Amino acid sequence: MADVLTYVLHYEGQFNKNSLGAVSEGAARAQEIGGECHAVVVGGDDLTDELCQTLGTYGAKKVFRAKGPEGLAQPVVDVMAKVIDEGGHGYALFGGGLLGFEIGAGLAARKHAGVTMEVIAVKAQDGKLVAERPILQDSKISVSRYQGDLGIIIGRINAFELREGESAPAEVVDVEIEYSPWSTKASMVQRGEQRGADVDIEGADILVAGGRGLGKAEGFELAEALAKAFGDNAAVAATRAVVDAGWYPYAAQIGQTGKTVSPKLYLAVGISGAIQHKVGMQSSENIVAINKDANAPIFEFSDLGIVGDLNKIMPKLTDAIKAKKGG
Ligand SMILES: Cc1cc2nc3c(=O)[nH]c(=O)nc-3n(C[C@H](O)[C@H](O)[C@H](O)COP(=O)(O)OP(=O)(O)OC[C@H]3O[C@@H](n4cnc5c(N)ncnc54)[C@H](O)[C@@H]3O)c2cc1C
Repeated sequence: MADVLTYVLHYEGQFNKNSLGAVSEGAARAQEIGGECHAVVVGGDDLTDELCQTLGTYGAKKVFRAKGPEGLAQPVVDVMAKVIDEGGHGYALFGGGLLGFEIGAGLAARKHAGVTMEVIAVKAQDGKLVAERPILQDSKISVSRYQGDLGIIIGRINAFELREGESAPAEVVDVEIEYSPWSTKASMVQRGEQRGADVDIEGADILVAGGRGLGKAEGFELAEALAKAFGDNAAVAATRAVVDAGWYPYAAQIGQTGKTVSPKLYLAVGISGAIQHKVGMQSSENIVAINKDANAPIFEFSDLGIVGDLNKIMPKLTDAIKAKKGG
């Protein structure tokens, strides 16, 4: 029997969807090994009892709440290490994302624990948890088992399905914490938004992803117009080639050295479909590609391929979607 501890990021009174997926996964797997899922939250007065209790909906039995800066890794490592020391949790589970990677790595170093990153599935075996992660450019799956008292599992972005359904509110436990001196060296100066990152691309249902075929930075206006026509659940993503060229911010980069996404619709425009890009978007539910080259590799893993000039197709597609949506 072992309990699972997760970290839940929040911003302006809302919990991060990816973190809620981790709570759902932690709860389901903890139950299979006879344990409970608990969550850590760190922040200010906006972390009210009522808000924290809602994590019970996703299966968290307890929420450990500490006062501290939200969105910085080291203070969260301090809180999680203390909760684990006192509670004896067997696993720490994160939903992925840059912050999850940083906290998970920090916790692994602090607790001398084994860590597995980019996990896509967690399973219960013989009363313990094992983590599955793709290797060799996603061509094989490796299974990690943990030695010692603590195993750290860091998921791929959105790898864990968000499940609501539990009715009991989570118990809220306040944690008194004295932060390590190095944990208070960094402070959040500004939490800003940059072009292309103002929508949560990891949480968006529809992604319009632009590549070098857009021709120049201004070409992204076509992608932004199309995403806007789709509505609030759509965002713009990019390939590394255009990020390196300075056409679009890194926050929107999909792929091996960017983010991993799995939206309902991934619309790739002017993207060749290099393997390093593919690994970040291949688990999308539907992939549609627009490319003028009928032999572009992207068509090999697209559900629908449109061969043609994106400059002609995208404005028409945008108009058609606007018309369909009645505006
Ligand atoms: C270690 C490493 C890590 C990497 N990590 C990443 C990563 O995280 N993410 C990533 O994306 N890449 C990554 N790359 C780069 C990757 O190999 C490719 O170079 C990159 O994905 C190509 O981007 P692209 O598709 O935008 O450009 P290109 O390969 O140049 O493709 C442009 C496409 O646009 C089409 N096109 C051109 N004009 C039009 C038009 N008018 N209408 C329609 N189609 C048109 C062309 O036919 C072409 O297929 C990495 C590479 C390495 C070596």
